[in-house]
Amino acid sequence: MISRVDGCEMITHTLVTEFGPVGATIWLELTYRVAMVEEGCFGVLVGRDITERKQAEEKANFLTHHDALTRLPNHLLLQDRLNQAIAFADRGTMKFALMVIDLDRFKTINDSLGHSVGDRLLVAVAKRLLECTRDTDTVCRQGGDEFLILLPNLADSDASITFLGGLMGNLLKPFHVDEKELSTSVSVGIAIYPDDGADFESLQKKADMAMYRAKDAGRNTYRFFNEEMNDDAVERLAMNVGLRRGLELGQFELYYQPQLEIASGALIGAEALIRWNHPELGLVLPGRFISVAEESGLIVPMGDWVLREACREAVRWQQPGTLGPVVAVNLSALQFKRGDIEQSVTQALEQSGLDPGRLELELTESILIGDTENVLATVKRLKLMGVKLSIDDFGTGYSSLSYLKRFEVDKLKIDQSFIRDLATDSEDAAIVRAVIQMARSLGLRTIAEGVESKQVLDHLRIYHCDEAQGYFYSRPMPAEAFMTYLDSHLAAGTSK
Ligand code: C2E
Ligand code: MG
Ligand code: MG
Repeated sequence: MISRVDGCEMITHTLVTEFGPVGATIWLELTYRVAMVEEGCFGVLVGRDITERKQAEEKANFLTHHDALTRLPNHLLLQDRLNQAIAFADRGTMKFALMVIDLDRFKTINDSLGHSVGDRLLVAVAKRLLECTRDTDTVCRQGGDEFLILLPNLADSDASITFLGGLMGNLLKPFHVDEKELSTSVSVGIAIYPDDGADFESLQKKADMAMYRAKDAGRNTYRFFNEEMNDDAVERLAMNVGLRRGLELGQFELYYQPQLEIASGALIGAEALIRWNHPELGLVLPGRFISVAEESGLIVPMGDWVLREACREAVRWQQPGTLGPVVAVNLSALQFKRGDIEQSVTQALEQSGLDPGRLELELTESILIGDTENVLATVKRLKLMGVKLSIDDFGTGYSSLSYLKRFEVDKLKIDQSFIRDLATDSEDAAIVRAVIQMARSLGLRTIAEGVESKQVLDHLRIYHCDEAQGYFYSRPMPAEAFMTYLDSHLAAGTSK
C-alpha cells in the first residue's frame, strides 16, 4: 500500500509470518513501513507476537471438526470425508463401509467407577481404534460411547470382515486405566454404500439399526444391515401400539418357574415370567417385547400389573399350615426411575393380602448402580416392609459383592451364562465356585439360573449353592399347571 503523508511517500506493508525453528513455534505480525524523504528512505519494522490469538484460532478450528476428549474427527468432518468417499466411489466401482461402534456396558463402568475413569477408557479405546485403521480411514467419535468408522475403497462388503475381526479382537484386550484393569467389548453395525443408502444420514441410520441388532444378539458381535432389520424397526413400532392395547385388553399372562432348594429338593419359590398371548403371533416371550416396553415407558404400568397379578396368585399357594412358595418378580430399572415402586409394591401386597416375606423382588445390577443414594433409600424402605431382594443375572455387571451388601440383598441369582457349561468349562466352574463362597461369607443365599442337567446340579451341590431353577426341574408354566406342580410337592412333603 502506498500513501502520501506530509509530503513523504509511505509504503506500509503488513505480513503475518510464522517463526520457530528452535523449540515452539511463535507467530509474529510484522508491520514494515518505508518512508521516502528527500535524503533517501528509511524503514521501520514493528513486530507483534500474536501466538496466543493464532493458537486460539487453531483450537477453535480444531474443535469445530474434532472431539475435545479423544481428539478424533467429529461428525462434521466425517460427513465431509463421507461425501468425498461417495464422489470417489461413484467414479469407479468401489464401495465403502460406515460402521457404528458402541461399547458394551460402558454405562456400568461409568456409573460404578466414575466419569473420569470412563473418559480415560474412551481415550484409550480411541487410540486402539486408530491402531487398527489405515491412513485413509476415518475414525470419529459420535458422542458418548459411540464411534463411527468410515472405510473407503472396498472391493466388496466382505473386505470389511477381515478388518472387523482385527478390530474386535484388539478391543477385547484389557485396558489399564488408573491402575485398574478394565475389559470391554463392542457391538458393531455396518452399512455399505451404495447398497444400503446414498447419503450420510441414511447410511448412519442403517448402521445404527444393525448395531442394535448386534446388541440384541448378545453383544461383542457385529451385524451388517439388511432389509429384514428395516422390517424389524417397523415391527417394533407396531409392537409398541400392540403392547398398549394388549395391556388394556388383558392379553398378558404370568408363567411360573419353580425354584428348589438343592439340599432338600423342597419347592421354595417360583419366578413370575410375563408372556403375551398375541391374537396373531401366539405366545410371545418377553425377550421380544420388554425392551420395546422399556423404550416407551409402558413397562411401568405393565410392571404394576405383574406385581398385582403375581401377589394375587401367590396367595392361592398358601395352603393351611404352609407358608407357600415365595413369588419372585422381575423389576425393570425404569420402574425405579419413573414409577413409584414403593407404592406399587404396597398396593399389590395390600390388595392381595400377601405376607411381604412371600414376595421377592429381582433387581438387576444396573438398577443398583444408577442413582445410588436414591435407589439405596428406596431399597431400604422396601426391605423395611419385609419383602425379599435378589440380584438377577449376577456376574454380568460390574458391581462388587461388598457393594451389594450395602443394599441388604438376600440372594444372588447367578447368571445362566456361567451355569450352562459349568460341568465342562473349568473357568465357569471356578467363577461359580468363587461367587458362591464369597456370597456365603457375606451371608447371602445363592440360586443358580438355567440348570438344565443333573451333572450341573451335582456340581452346584458340591459347591454348596443353595437353590436352583431351570429346565432340569421344570420350564415356566401357566398358573394352573404350577398349582398342580405345587400340589404334587405338597403331597410328597417337599414344599415349604
Ligand atoms: P430372567 O429374569 O433372567 O429369567 C430367566 C429366563 O431364563 C426366563 O426366560 C426363563 O424362561 C429362562 N430359563 C429358565 N430356566 C432355563 C434353562 O434351564 N435354560 C434356558 N435356556 N433358559 C431358562 P423368559 O421367560 O423368556 O424371560 C426372559 C427375561 O425377560 C427374564 O430374564 C427377565 O429379565 C425378563 N422378564 C420376564 N418377565 C418379566 C417381567 O414381568 N418384568 C420385567 N421387567 N422383566 C421380565
Ligand atoms: Mg429374573
Ligand atoms: Mg436371570
